[in-house]
Amino acid sequence: MGTSLKCQQGLNTWGRFVFVLIASLIALQSAPAPTAASTRLSDSEAQQVDEAMRLFQRRGLQPPAVTIEFHDHTEACQGHPGYFRPRLDRIDICSDLPFVLVHELAHVWIEEHVSVATRRAFATRNDLPTWNDHDYDWKERGVELAAFTIQQVVMRDLDPRRPRNRELLANFNFLTRALSSPF
Ligand SMILES: [Zn+2]
Repeated sequence: MGTSLKCQQGLNTWGRFVFVLIASLIALQSAPAPTAASTRLSDSEAQQVDEAMRLFQRRGLQPPAVTIEFHDHTEACQGHPGYFRPRLDRIDICSDLPFVLVHELAHVWIEEHVSVATRRAFATRNDLPTWNDHDYDWKERGVELAAFTIQQVVMRDLDPRRPRNRELLANFNFLTRALSSPF
């Protein structure tokens, strides 16, 4: 579930395709607006996308604007359940598990909103050696902890009395508080 700048596979070869463009104003509306417009997305996929976007809105986060494709095989995701390609501004989903879509959307949100300084500080505060150096295992990369953190907080109502949850919530606040900071 990492990120990669390497893959440039042709878009035309992939079947179901949706371009999800979310106007920034959607996040300011009180009720979630439809976020996916596609004739090629199945009803269930469109529903998954809408539900995931609503989870971000529920926590006050602007839903990510990104191209999303669903696949019934993992090759399109480099063997992972999901895959984010920042340069192409797209995510590929190769799993039916709901957290996979939310996790990849979290990667997009981070790419869109978290400054370089905050990324560095986030890795440091969590004693991680790197933000996103792929020479390190994914568990040692700050960007993976950050995506996991956002995924957990938007999908669950965490009981703050548990120390592990307090840590997740503190990390979530650290990542999201800097929304208006200059990059
Ligand atoms: Zn990931």
